[in-house]
Amino acid sequence: MKKILALCLLSVSLFGQKTPKNVILLIGDGMGVSQIYAGLTANRGHLNLERVKVIGFHKNQASDNYVTDSAAGATAFATGKQTYNGAIGLDSTRVPAVTLLEMAEQKGLATGLVSTCDITDATPSSFIAHQLKRSMHEEIALDFLKTNVDVVIGGGRKYFEKRKDGLNLLDTLRQKGYQVHATLDLDGVTKGSVFALYAEENPIKVMEGRGDALLKSAKKSLEILNQNKKGFFVMIEGSQIDWGGHANDADYAITEMVDFDKSIGYALDFAKKNEETLVIITADHETGGMALMGGNMKTGEVKAAFTTKGHTGQMIPVFAFGPGADTFGGIYNNYDIFTKIKQALKLGQK
Ligand code: MG
Ligand code: ZN
Repeated sequence: MKKILALCLLSVSLFGQKTPKNVILLIGDGMGVSQIYAGLTANRGHLNLERVKVIGFHKNQASDNYVTDSAAGATAFATGKQTYNGAIGLDSTRVPAVTLLEMAEQKGLATGLVSTCDITDATPSSFIAHQLKRSMHEEIALDFLKTNVDVVIGGGRKYFEKRKDGLNLLDTLRQKGYQVHATLDLDGVTKGSVFALYAEENPIKVMEGRGDALLKSAKKSLEILNQNKKGFFVMIEGSQIDWGGHANDADYAITEMVDFDKSIGYALDFAKKNEETLVIITADHETGGMALMGGNMKTGEVKAAFTTKGHTGQMIPVFAFGPGADTFGGIYNNYDIFTKIKQALKLGQK
């Protein structure tokens, strides 16, 4: 009887629920429900995000604060640890915690980080660095060299080449075999490992002409990472939705949200075709305490009000698509997302 039960369970896991080989984690920094709905309204009633049917919510308190910042928020996703605001890849006792990206590397998966801010900023760096404070950009940049991350695309070139210690980390990266680029003209990069820092500091806003930089970055990262037969883990961040919130500038937040949604659409198309990719879309926290006071789905007009220049403590939606998505329904802690991804990719297992 027990044997039959075991066989049944085995066949369910083999043939019923497919397990993913790849994970694409998309983080819209500062993207609460209001930002999503404002983006949907501005986009005249639709977002790619609506194609996702499994939705949950995460509770996101930091260890030292009801309201999390991006460092503690991303560290929770990356390491499964609830930590203090400002911590990069450290637990609440300031001990380095192993990240999903590092575990994926250990398992032989390809890994990548993509953002529309300094790549040393809190969200991307929490997946690869271990530092006491998020402001330690130069120390964080050095941590990138301690890994074998395959694809890095974002801003913040100055932290790699115009440093107080005089080191040129871009030279070191070249010596390590990276294709190092200072633009997003990456047509010639079709395989191998790449470090594209296309802005000296933070890339500019969509409203100021960033164009499709994020979508281009997302496409290039998937093109390269998907060549690894064992699979990949990539984190793609829509970084500046948060900054629109901090500035209490609805147009800024909305244009960044709609821009982020293009990469969401691309990731969903990729996953639908690939069938072995789990896509997770969430945010670290909401920014601005944004409220929608009116709008028009036909004209795309949005009337928004803000209650703070900082972050808020509201629950944040999680959208999951692909094999393994079902575990993302319900309400759970932000750090549970680490465990769910770890289990989906069977990280830390032989
Ligand atoms: Mg961020
Ligand atoms: Zn913020």
